[in-house]
This record gives sequence, structure tokens and C-alpha cells, in this order.
Amino acid sequence: MVRVGIGYDIHALKKGRPLILGGLHIPHSKGLLGHSDADALYHAITDAIFGALGEGDIGDHFSDKDPKWKNAASVLFAREAVRCAKARGFKISFIDTIVVAEEPKLFAFKKQMRENIARDFKVRVSQVGLKAKTNEGFGPIGKGRAIAAEAAVTLVKG
Ligand code: MG
Repeated sequence: MVRVGIGYDIHALKKGRPLILGGLHIPHSKGLLGHSDADALYHAITDAIFGALGEGDIGDHFSDKDPKWKNAASVLFAREAVRCAKARGFKISFIDTIVVAEEPKLFAFKKQMRENIARDFKVRVSQVGLKAKTNEGFGPIGKGRAIAAEAAVTLVKG
């Protein structure tokens, strides 16, 4: 049995926050604002896994009202989504992703982000796709006020 889940996330960029994206601390003057470390890419992948499992969304599993998850590393969410998939007899077959960011330029960090995703979602690097795009100057992302991410995850039973 094959299942596909999709995920989307967006967080605002604010001065004084570390920029954590794809499990990587990226040097930048601003970082993503959120209850956890606000890693929009890990959140989109996590949501795609929960989606494919029919297990709600990331907020159902890790409430942003719960102080336990304040500034939490999103790798914890990744591990829990992987655990849920495994417990239901599914394996991750492929993770495909898009990051939409006007700044900083992510080209130099793509390789490491792919490796981090593979490590934390327990797949091989060859099972991870990562595209980094800009928003061509349009909207809040294009103005450098936010970063968004999308993910599609394929799960197979067995
Ligand atoms: Mg999020």
C-alpha cells in the first residue's frame, strides 16, 4: 500500500532569532519566529507524514500552547512522526520538499539540509529531494519577511 501526504508551513523572519531551517543553523541577521525553533521545513515534512497516516497535523501532536514545546528542536517532531509511521507499519519511501525564501540564499546549505533530513527522518540522502526557490519579490516571502516550505512524503506499507 502506498500513501502520499502533503505539508506546508510558513514562519515570520525576525531580528534576534536564530535561523534554523532543515535542521541547520544558518548564519543570518534574522531567524524564524515560532513557539518551537520554527523550522518550517521540518514542520512541513512532519505534517506530510502525519497527513499520509491520517493522524491529523503537527499541532494535534505538539500544541503550541504547551510550554513543553517552547523553543523545542523540531528534530523531536521529526522523530515522533517517524515513530508513528513505523508503529503503523509504514516506511518512508521518499520525501520531496520546496523551501521558498528570498533571503538568505540557500544554495550553499542545500547539501547539509538534505543530509540532516535523511538523518532525522531515517531515510537515505537519495530518498530526499530539496528545492530552494525565491518568491521573485512577491508578497511577504518576496519581501524577506517570512520563509515557507512545502513537502510531499510517500509512505509504503511493509
Ligand atoms: Mg511551523
